[in-house]
Amino acid sequence: MAGRFNILYLYPEHMNLYGDRGNVLALSQRACWRGIPTTVIRREPGEDAEWDAVDLVFMGGGEDSHQSRIADDFLSLGPELLPRLADGMPMLAICGAFQLLGQCYTTASGQKLPGLGVLDVWTEPGQGRAIGDVVTETTLPIQPATLVGFENHGGRTYLGSSAKPLGKVRLGRGNNGADGWEGALQTRVVGTYLHGSLLPKNPHLADLLLSWALERQGLSQSLEPLAIDEEMSAHQAILARARK
Ligand code: GLN
Repeated sequence: MAGRFNILYLYPEHMNLYGDRGNVLALSQRACWRGIPTTVIRREPGEDAEWDAVDLVFMGGGEDSHQSRIADDFLSLGPELLPRLADGMPMLAICGAFQLLGQCYTTASGQKLPGLGVLDVWTEPGQGRAIGDVVTETTLPIQPATLVGFENHGGRTYLGSSAKPLGKVRLGRGNNGADGWEGALQTRVVGTYLHGSLLPKNPHLADLLLSWALERQGLSQSLEPLAIDEEMSAHQAILARARK
């Protein structure tokens, strides 16, 4: 399988909590192992991006102050980003990025940051922070059907009628600690509270995102399995620890 895999990494300087950069490393490494030419395009506020070259967008989490610094620039990406996401370009958004992909994020100090509205979710400040390990059972077509990660957020996120949850919480708090949902999914946009980094220990999700990016180029064969998949052993070890 040839194709190409160009990852647009939004705001690597501002939005990179708890190892979020590891998601970009996992995605590019898994593509390289399969011989797919891969490039990471880093974009900070005010910079240009060659949008037609982009196959997947990644954005990590950030503190409220970092989110408010990039919020206007992020909104300005709408005309380029929204039609591509509607057309099936995959995007992975972690925590602070997940919040800004929704309708609105109200910070702990009450600042209202309008979001891009790509995901039909909204986020309000809650009592205390949700911190700890998370295990969910995902709605995505992957095996095993579990995702593991680490959450640390003050915001509480609620799903509107057009957003599907990414998973059901088995351990941890998830979107708001009340309705049992974690993350959101709309077209091929995945929003989640899971840091960790997420993808190195959820390689099945990394491969799903990669296969979506290739499918958009008309390459729909399934990805070659990798000879050694230590990442899945990490996933299984975390599940075993969580069960104790
Ligand atoms: N600042 C946001 C919150 O506390 C997001 C934090 C994060 O990305 N971990 O809810």
